[in-house]
Amino acid sequence: MKRLFTRLITAFGAVILLTLVALSVALFALLRHDPLTQRLLTLHLSTQVRAVEGRLHRAGDPHPGTAAGAMLLRELARREDRRILWIDNGGIIRFDSAARWEGKSADTLLVRGGALHGGQHWGEYETDEGTWLFVAEPLALHRRREGEIAVGMLIPRTALLRRFSATLLGPLLQAGALAMVLSGALALFISRSIAQPLQRVVEAAQALAAGDLSARAPEDQGPEEVRHLARTFNAMSDRIQATQEAQRAFLANVAHDLRTPLTSIQGFAQALIDGAAADEASRLQAAQTIYEEAQRLEKMTTALLDLARLEAGAMHLESVPLDLGALACARLERFRLQAEAQGIELRCERPPSLPPMAGDAARLSQVVDNLLDNALRYTPPGGEVTIEVTATGDELRLVVADTGEGIPAEALPHIFERFYRADPARGGSGVGLGLAIVREIVQAHGGSVAVESAPGQGSRFILRFPRLS
Ligand code: ADP
Repeated sequence: MKRLFTRLITAFGAVILLTLVALSVALFALLRHDPLTQRLLTLHLSTQVRAVEGRLHRAGDPHPGTAAGAMLLRELARREDRRILWIDNGGIIRFDSAARWEGKSADTLLVRGGALHGGQHWGEYETDEGTWLFVAEPLALHRRREGEIAVGMLIPRTALLRRFSATLLGPLLQAGALAMVLSGALALFISRSIAQPLQRVVEAAQALAAGDLSARAPEDQGPEEVRHLARTFNAMSDRIQATQEAQRAFLANVAHDLRTPLTSIQGFAQALIDGAAADEASRLQAAQTIYEEAQRLEKMTTALLDLARLEAGAMHLESVPLDLGALACARLERFRLQAEAQGIELRCERPPSLPPMAGDAARLSQVVDNLLDNALRYTPPGGEVTIEVTATGDELRLVVADTGEGIPAEALPHIFERFYRADPARGGSGVGLGLAIVREIVQAHGGSVAVESAPGQGSRFILRFPRLS
């Protein structure tokens, strides 16, 4: 939380500082060129002239021509850091605190100027030191005297401007400080509202890492990004939990399915050793059963190994151009004897020429074999098993259909899972790995597999593969 807070407050501070700088620059530029500022500056200067006049008056109105008057004006000019002029009604400068323009005409030095109210005048002088602003005030006392009318004050325009903007700096800094305090509170609020829900996700992740697979993060706290993170985390936890449960079930299944044939082998072997199988026929029967069970074990371990390799992506699959129709129909022929014995009719339909696909012939044969094996196993005598291969768009479609018992709706979503068997009492020696292997091989070929079935209506397994372009 601290880090987030620090980042936020730094970002806010930087924004406030930039805004203040930009505002000051804009204000200064505005003040420089705005006619209103000119007026404000002259007014400002005019009040200072009045103050000088007041000082003169309080000092007994000494004439600037006298040493006492000149000294007082020089003293005032030095104290106020201004330049003071004394101008007679002919416009001639009689006194200059900088002692430079005495005797010169005030009007001819003017660049611009004009009358202010109450007999005041303002003007701008171009000097060696830049533009100077000037305001002259008619003096109440001296107005009566012949020859002297005004006391004026000069100041560099930029100095006056700077002074003027300096007065704006205070309020600007105050506003900045206030904005900083407010943004601090805002940063605290934002960092709390993000960091706290984030902390919940961290806690859930820690619990999960410690082995508590039921740990979940609240999905309804904090901003949308944190909620999204919580939802993603929970989805991940769900998957981990499901995978672990499947792993447990898988191990239990493997152990159970290995145990059954092993117990049988052990029993019959024991009978042979003990001499319980007394006659030749029983001994043969025992040996036969041991052989069949060992075969079943071999089939199962091969299937398990295949599945493990396929799932780990460790099985090397060839990718050569092949004719899926020819391959499927050739595999079907291998089941003909078995089908005839079961009284089931076999058919293979494919167009005379099919676009090729890239694949591993041995693995694809395994797919077709598994599907045909199932179809024959779950189809009663008098039924029919059909293979149909077609090309549609940019894919090849292989359908293995039977007129068998079909699959109940509740079993359909699960039949491709490892060890799943819709009705373990039926289907003979099946262990529930055939379709899991089919799906893995088809997916490894970039294809997909789907099933359509209803009890009593037969089943259709539909495989789609990308064709070779
Ligand atoms: P098994 O070795 O049990 O056949 P599979 O993975 O090949 O395992 O099939 C899983 C389950 O799907 C089977 O137990 C069966 O219930 C169902 N099944 C598969 N193919 C068919 C089919 N052609 N007709 C009816 N049920 C089927």
